[in-house]
Amino acid sequence: MTRALGRRRLLATLCGTAVAGAGCLGSRDDGPVRGSTSSESLAVDGTEYDSIVVFRNDDPAPWTDLETLRAVTDVFVRTETPVTYSVVVSDDNADERLDADHAVAAYLDDLRADHGDLVDLAVHGYTHTKETEFLGRSEFGGLNAAAQRDRITAATDLFDDHGWDTDVFVPPYNTYDETTADVLADEGFSLVSGNWYTLEDQFDVEGYQLDGDLTHLPMNLSMEDWDTESVRDIETLKRGIDRNNEASGLNVIMLHYYFYADQQQRETLEELVEYATAGDTKALTLGEVADKLDAGAIAPTEDGWIVDE
Ligand SMILES: [Zn+2]
Repeated sequence: MTRALGRRRLLATLCGTAVAGAGCLGSRDDGPVRGSTSSESLAVDGTEYDSIVVFRNDDPAPWTDLETLRAVTDVFVRTETPVTYSVVVSDDNADERLDADHAVAAYLDDLRADHGDLVDLAVHGYTHTKETEFLGRSEFGGLNAAAQRDRITAATDLFDDHGWDTDVFVPPYNTYDETTADVLADEGFSLVSGNWYTLEDQFDVEGYQLDGDLTHLPMNLSMEDWDTESVRDIETLKRGIDRNNEASGLNVIMLHYYFYADQQQRETLEELVEYATAGDTKALTLGEVADKLDAGAIAPTEDGWIVDE
């Protein structure tokens, strides 16, 4: 049950939250246990929620099978669940880009026109190629600033051609470094969503960071197991959601549409969507989180989040 709150002081940090098992994460598919914001207190008028959930559907690209992507979109539309599509604009191997006449670009245009209230787009690198071995593999981490900027602006130029406005960046392989963050801020991005362990490893930040030039809001739950290349068991996923909710009241759930070609997988996705959005939970896109942060319309509280609708 939600309740409207008057203006109130909010805890600026969740770092005091005691969580059992904080140091013993079972898997990198599951997130860390707490987040951090600035040392300054935030104050937001709005509705308090126990938790926030964000869905991030990665990899719509020139090579995308539209039948599968359409079927995944249907799950989010049918359940009226906000979702961010992290889009790769260029296929280096096929020398193919999401130009104006590309079928996938046309689909994304239609998606924005028909369901722009639910779906927004984020820049997911330029080519999604492994350019370095930074943290295993990265399109950006380890490159110099000029090279990173070239790739980022090549992507945003194509976004601009379509009128796809976004200030959200999702680095391929979830890996990025401080240079990436500097270039993104300089290019007008306000939010980056990688993974929680890159944030810990490179920025010494646990969970998320809401202050500064660039918000870091990493995924903390992966729907797929990358060792077995399959959708994870629904009960395991539900436990991950519960644990994230207990720890920080935040789930940023990463999925890849191409795992959901079969009805059975889509049923798992739909069950997970229903579970993650149940109760006193606010579902938002990454773009909505970025906009609300810019407007001072969202903030963590002692035991949840406050959101100005
Ligand atoms: Zn990707």
